Amino acid sequence: MTDTFFGHVIDGEEVPSVDGATFDVWNPWTQEVFAQAAEGGPEDAARAVASSRKAFDEGPWPRLGRVERAAAVHRLADLMEARSDELATLDTTNMGKPFAQAKHDVGRSVQNFRFFADHQRDHTGETYPMDSGHHTYSEYGPVGVVAAISPWNFPLMMASWKVAPAIAWGNTCVVKPSEDTPASVTVLGRLAVEAGFPPGVINVLNGHGTPAGSSLTADDRVDRVTFTGSSATGKVVMASAAGHLAPVSLELGGKGANVVFEDADLDNAVRWTVEAIFRNSGQVCLAGSRLFVASAIYDEFMERFVAAAEALTVGDPFDPATKFASLASKRHFDKVTSYVDGVGADGGTVVTGGAADDGTWLVRPTIITDLPRTAPAYCEEIFGPVCVVNRFDSEDEAVGLANDTRYGLNAMLFTENLSRAHRVASRLRAGTVWVNCFFIRDLRTPFGGVGDSGVGREGGNFSKEFFTEPKAVVMQINR
Ligand code: NDP
Repeated sequence: MTDTFFGHVIDGEEVPSVDGATFDVWNPWTQEVFAQAAEGGPEDAARAVASSRKAFDEGPWPRLGRVERAAAVHRLADLMEARSDELATLDTTNMGKPFAQAKHDVGRSVQNFRFFADHQRDHTGETYPMDSGHHTYSEYGPVGVVAAISPWNFPLMMASWKVAPAIAWGNTCVVKPSEDTPASVTVLGRLAVEAGFPPGVINVLNGHGTPAGSSLTADDRVDRVTFTGSSATGKVVMASAAGHLAPVSLELGGKGANVVFEDADLDNAVRWTVEAIFRNSGQVCLAGSRLFVASAIYDEFMERFVAAAEALTVGDPFDPATKFASLASKRHFDKVTSYVDGVGADGGTVVTGGAADDGTWLVRPTIITDLPRTAPAYCEEIFGPVCVVNRFDSEDEAVGLANDTRYGLNAMLFTENLSRAHRVASRLRAGTVWVNCFFIRDLRTPFGGVGDSGVGREGGNFSKEFFTEPKAVVMQINR
């Protein structure tokens, strides 16, 4: 139980892998290994699932009253809140995001637990009076064991987004964080033990996608699989879960369109455009990586946008002044730079940014123009601080450009014209459309994507649908 070794948390105990295997845990800013984590193999995955299965089939958790379960989940949230500095420090150390953003993410993670604790308590079933002299009511019971596989870009927050609704609705769960960021999720598992959760309700399995993650998705004792990551891996996860008919919820990649009309409030549009593509160094599935600007304001907007991008304070993520830091891993740095390196050959112009060229894994806020729509940097998810800009001359053209992608997670639009805002929001093919803002989220609303951006929605009643088995009970009423 240290911050230099992150074991699996299985059945209420932190344990090494059965074969003792470990892997390095990196600090991407200092480029140093700061800890070791247990390298989960098939045997560890099987142990974790068996423990969660037993906790579901025989343990008290699914049988607790709603109020009692809500109280337990709030106890975990209390502990997370009390340890928010430690959790944020681990996410910044392990992933490289600025500390203030990591603190914000921990706050949102705590909120996820609190929201779903209350939501399951307050949202019970429906009744359906019938003319035939019967009535039917619905019940929402837990489904069983949930496998939650989470990515490295918001290590704690993305895991909490899955674990919180899963356990709040009475399920047990095995969460596998990304191999790049095991730290904060392991501490979450430790805190569940400290909060007095029955063994197996939250198990943490560390390790690589294969074999740790793939062993979970293939295990027929798993009843639901919730995954956030790349579209390519999402397909593999779905095929694996299909082997035992486990429903999946997939939140996958994005190539978000950001459309700025000529009647936009430019100060507001620039502020959110910077946030949309450079927050978390662009390592956000929701990033506004394709920017479309009305020709009438293109020059003025670009002047302001480029200036704002260049003004971001870049540096050590623990320095309170820092707004923008390095990428999360060497592998990811190489991926992002390979896209930027290809821009010139594809006919594009790098207006500002590019790799820092100082040995760090830093890619500066990067803005690209003149790219053809077939270029990889234009149409593929880069998942970095790289914004590709185009201009448009009409609303129809803007909608056509924005929808010209196989992704459909989210889009942003900026206009002061109310009718245009509604009209365009409705025409954009995306799971979420933000008008004159970005990243604002109400946990009751549906979240997810269309096309290659995913399958299913989570949030509020949408999470309830996924993490429960609805049952209809039909009653005869004798008259
Ligand atoms: P992956 O999709 O490969 O990984 C996401 C998670 O799935 C990780 O926990 C990973 O483990 C796990 N995983 C990988 N393979 C399997 C498998 N066969 N079965 C079960 N679980 C598996 O994303 P990467 O982290 O490699 O990032 C690659 C790209 O994916 C990024 O550049 C970005 O484009 C996109 N991405 C999108 C995210 C989003 O928020 N939508 C988040 C992260 C990435 P491990 O890390 O150990 O391989």
